[in-house]
Amino acid sequence: MKKQTKTLLINLSAVFLWLVIAILLIARLILTAKNAWLYCLIALVLIPINYALSLLVHETGHVVFAAANGFKCKTVNFGLFTLDLTSGFKLSFFTFMAEDGGESLFVPTKTVTKKQLKLLAFGGLAFSFIYLLAVGLLSLAFAKEVTTVMLCGLTVAGYLLTVNALPFDKTSDGAMLINKDGYVDGLCYAQNCQLAIENGLVPEQNSIEKCKNQPICVYFDYLLAVYNQNFAKAEQTVKLLYERVEDFSYDEYYLLLPEIIYWATIKNALTEGLERRAKHLFESNLNSSAFLRAHYAYRLLKGEREWATTIKNSYDATLSKAPAFYAECESKLISQLCKG
Ligand SMILES: [Zn+2]
Repeated sequence: MKKQTKTLLINLSAVFLWLVIAILLIARLILTAKNAWLYCLIALVLIPINYALSLLVHETGHVVFAAANGFKCKTVNFGLFTLDLTSGFKLSFFTFMAEDGGESLFVPTKTVTKKQLKLLAFGGLAFSFIYLLAVGLLSLAFAKEVTTVMLCGLTVAGYLLTVNALPFDKTSDGAMLINKDGYVDGLCYAQNCQLAIENGLVPEQNSIEKCKNQPICVYFDYLLAVYNQNFAKAEQTVKLLYERVEDFSYDEYYLLLPEIIYWATIKNALTEGLERRAKHLFESNLNSSAFLRAHYAYRLLKGEREWATTIKNSYDATLSKAPAFYAECESKLISQLCKG
């Protein structure tokens, strides 16, 4: 089954479960309360309020546990608004999980352990659970009708907790707690590689079997192959990764797709499917050097010289700010373009 279909089915079942509870609560109101329509109206208003509040509480849980474990918050998506701390303090509203970013991002300040990553995931779930329990218990202090209305509004918080706790998607909080598919192993290695690179070092080679071949971990294996000028291995690695594109997480997709497109472009081996993905990718607002390099190569292949030059200028500007290891890899990758 396709990954998106599976995710959709799981979401629908979770919606269904909590919808049934909401309908039962509404039925109770209609059968027992005077002015039932008024209570139903209030319950309807409470649903979006609970949705926004439970997202806020959930992300706060991640932020608190991240801070306690030595992570620095770069961006935090609270659902209705995103807090961007990369350069100062910036708030943007209605930035729901946009395709080109907008997810919460925590970066390590010292070596990361698997336990810390699991704690980070646990923080969100724990805060969500406390919210559900606290508001649920609080509602019991009121008259029966008010209790019912409050519980009805709370069902959306129950739904959010359920989807975050379900371990079907390897990046969900629940999946991270049980290290599904070894994703936490891969993430832990990738974060430590990233940390080393930011500190001006070359990341250590790891046995990717230890990370159960998680794409996020294979990515650094690929970069090291480029760094060591083993281009045959680099090309082979991205080819093999493309076969697993359906299993990529959101982060893995935007990290790896530019590399896959780049190699296919310079070897003039773009398939129809990959070309479709490439066109879609180039419509996004990404500005990583890998993305710009892939886009540059693609415009060159299409003979769009002027467009290619504009992109090349952005690429050079991005590169001037890149850590030494990435800059070194980029110059080696671009050299392959001239050969290809
Ligand atoms: Zn979460």
